[in-house]
Amino acid sequence: MNHKKRQHFKKLLLTELKRHAQHINDEQAKALEIASDEVNESSDLALRDVIQEMALKLSDRESQIVADIDQALMRMEEGSYGMCVRCGHEIDERRLEAVPTARYDAACQTEMEAAKGQRAGPSL
Ligand SMILES: [Zn+2]
Repeated sequence: MNHKKRQHFKKLLLTELKRHAQHINDEQAKALEIASDEVNESSDLALRDVIQEMALKLSDRESQIVADIDQALMRMEEGSYGMCVRCGHEIDERRLEAVPTARYDAACQTEMEAAKGQRAGPSL
């Protein structure tokens, strides 16, 4: 994935993050705005602090979403964003477009859901 594509997905993730920040308060949203300023490349650490503080104030479900976004941003820093954490293949960009926090490619997701379905099924 090239730099331009990464920036595109980073923007998607940050937009999602800001939507959740609005559920907290203006101060937090403003802190996020400053921390995620693309011009300031050295702001990554500050951004993570803001995200973690944010997660504490959200409901369980929302804080899980925020944690997923946080992890996706972390993978982006490490350079592993867009690759399946299970098999290492590149995740289809259309899939990332729909779910920017996706950790698995479609094949692994299907396999894991099938496996889960089997376990959850009736034990005869
Ligand atoms: Zn995979």
